[in-house]
Amino acid sequence: MNLKNQLSLKNSYQNLPPIFHSAQNPEPSDNPECVLYNTELAKHLWISETIPAENAHNLLSWNTLPEWTKPIAQAYAGHQFGHPTMLGDGRALLLWEWETSDKKLVDIVLKGAGRTPFSRGGDGRATLKSMLREYLISESIHALWIPSSRSLAVIKIWNPVLREDVEQWAILTRVMSSHIRIWTFEFAKNFGTRDDMQALIDYTIERHYPELMARQNPALWLLEKVIDVQLDLVTQWLRVWFIHGVMNTDNTSIAGETFDYGPCAFMNGFHEERVFSSIDTGGRYAFGNQSNIILWNLSVFASTLSDFIDEETRNKVLGTMWEHMHSKWLVMMCQKLGIHNPLSRDESLARELLSWMQGTQADYTNTFLSIGWYTNIPDTEIYNDERFQNWLSIWKQRVSSQSWGMLGAQESMKQYNPVYIPRNHLVEQALDSAVAWDLSLFHGFLKILKSPYIYIKNTKKYMGVPKDFDENYQTFCGT
Ligand code: AMP
Ligand code: MG
Repeated sequence: MNLKNQLSLKNSYQNLPPIFHSAQNPEPSDNPECVLYNTELAKHLWISETIPAENAHNLLSWNTLPEWTKPIAQAYAGHQFGHPTMLGDGRALLLWEWETSDKKLVDIVLKGAGRTPFSRGGDGRATLKSMLREYLISESIHALWIPSSRSLAVIKIWNPVLREDVEQWAILTRVMSSHIRIWTFEFAKNFGTRDDMQALIDYTIERHYPELMARQNPALWLLEKVIDVQLDLVTQWLRVWFIHGVMNTDNTSIAGETFDYGPCAFMNGFHEERVFSSIDTGGRYAFGNQSNIILWNLSVFASTLSDFIDEETRNKVLGTMWEHMHSKWLVMMCQKLGIHNPLSRDESLARELLSWMQGTQADYTNTFLSIGWYTNIPDTEIYNDERFQNWLSIWKQRVSSQSWGMLGAQESMKQYNPVYIPRNHLVEQALDSAVAWDLSLFHGFLKILKSPYIYIKNTKKYMGVPKDFDENYQTFCGT
């Protein structure tokens, strides 16, 4: 059996009409070296069952890619910061789709492997720091039980990259259900024929939602499905106070996964308008605007399907989105609060807590932990204040009135309230020392982030933020 069959590799995306992709080999380079390899993911995908780790490292460093690999850059076009643009993979190459043991395909992509026809002025490369960042945060989001792309490896390349300073070049091997995004549909709508769009719809449904294939109007069901998975996704971001940072329609996946970890960050003290990204000067992708933006992105998606779904039907579906988002948010907040059957009055309980947090800048993650473990509510001024204590007694009454009682509620809350999230200052420390060739902090932090719901003794340093750190914190696109 040849290696291709042995590895269950496919190139199904290449069966789409040619306008959707462009053949492109990675840029040759010197001395690729694997600095991170995700053995757990390799095991999960059965890569490690099929090929030994040393060979897997080689396989992923493209200088040694088998000659039958025919990488492609994907074409897409759509909205960046609300404005139409033409882009495509300027620094990513789809090597193959890997067939998992349950017969699902996942993309194996190299990010930062050199220029493509869509690179415009860019060099197609990525910096080591930004690829380590994507590895750390994507693995953390996955461990927080939020759908996400995964990181299989980071390969360091000897050649430098020029940004504001000279930096180290690196390539990330990303694994994701697919890289089909709203932009892929915008591209088909604006530059393709009706047949191209039909091919894209069919491919997407077959790959992600095969149960819709037999429905009468699959495009309509696809729209409903994508709305559902994306609203779920953003609700989960709001559960842990994750700010994606660049919710352009190219970064909105049809499969409902978080991806493209650029200027993302976690918020610790409540601020509706919190923005960390240096390029988001207008606050379009601010924490509190993420629900509005996903609705906007989804309405763009609906408009791309105009040849398949009439306007009245589209508007009807879009008209229900806000209500769906709101009820998903309420269910999520109630899960965090140990309430299993949300009533409409529970909304004011959740909002009152958030409003108190906004006033006091109490730490979000730690506040929910304290409530969950109840006896451990810190003996500090903010938690002793009358407003919080009143809230606590109303919450206690509400939770105790449920059949599972306080203990049952607190047990359940542990599934929704993490102990550890990637605190911004720790992310920066881990990355700074990693690019200076000491990966010990990075590995230590990653280990904690991989089991975020399990409290480990003597980990206090992972459970807070230095005062005012977040106020001045800025993130960058990291190209
Ligand atoms: P992103 O902000 O990562 O979603 O990227 C937006 C677009 O810019 C995508 O088409 C990327 O492929 C492209 N891009 C980002 N960085 C580079 C780079 N260094 N060289 C070429 N294209 C890039
Ligand atoms: Mg992108």
